[in-house]
Amino acid sequence: MKIMFLGAPGAGKGTQAEVVSEALSIPAISTGAIIRSAIKQGTETGLLAKTYTDRGALVPDDVVVGIVKERLAADDCRRGFILDGFPRTLAQAEALDAMGIELDLVLSIEVPDEEIIDRMGGRRVCSGCGATYHMKYNPSEKGERCERCDQPLTVRKDDAPEVVLSRLAGYHKETAPLKDYYKAKGILKMVRGQERVEDTTDLIMKAVGIEPKA
Ligand code: AMP
Repeated sequence: MKIMFLGAPGAGKGTQAEVVSEALSIPAISTGAIIRSAIKQGTETGLLAKTYTDRGALVPDDVVVGIVKERLAADDCRRGFILDGFPRTLAQAEALDAMGIELDLVLSIEVPDEEIIDRMGGRRVCSGCGATYHMKYNPSEKGERCERCDQPLTVRKDDAPEVVLSRLAGYHKETAPLKDYYKAKGILKMVRGQERVEDTTDLIMKAVGIEPKA
């Protein structure tokens, strides 16, 4: 199954993609996480990407498309995958089509802007393994340390309030129009993001067609 998660920054795409990835045993591919890892490693792509991510701008299409092409060629994607944060522009959606990849389902997690702004303050990411948390909605069992690898949790630079506003504006301008693109293909489903992570997961599992655990 090939699924794509759409939604504003902070809508919960990454968290939900990880849950569905585990339930279906297919990889969740987050372009944001790949880019953050490249930045951390100081690769050429990372250095270039940083000049965009720091100010909440989108990384150029050709760079991101290159990253995704390489990742989707890996063996673990043969049985399907979940895309989290890609495509984010019409040009990226067309590039995915041009790769011959037909998505089965596009899930848009709908959260109003006021809620997004309210949520972003509590987001944390592990400085070691990149796992994501939310101080209120998805806390680590170890407080300000990662429950998987015990490294300290940090606030993403692009989660600063002024950067969030610019990312939201970018979402409405560049990414939200993709809903019409996938609606026309008949594969769009919309789910209202709930306050509790598990409640959103329930709605998503139904949309994906996975039976809830007894
Ligand atoms: P995310 O973790 O998905 O919010 O992504 C973090 C940042 O990485 C974004 O604000 C962009 O700067 C960059 N990024 C991630 N995915 C894409 C994409 N598909 N196209 C362009 N830039 C991206």
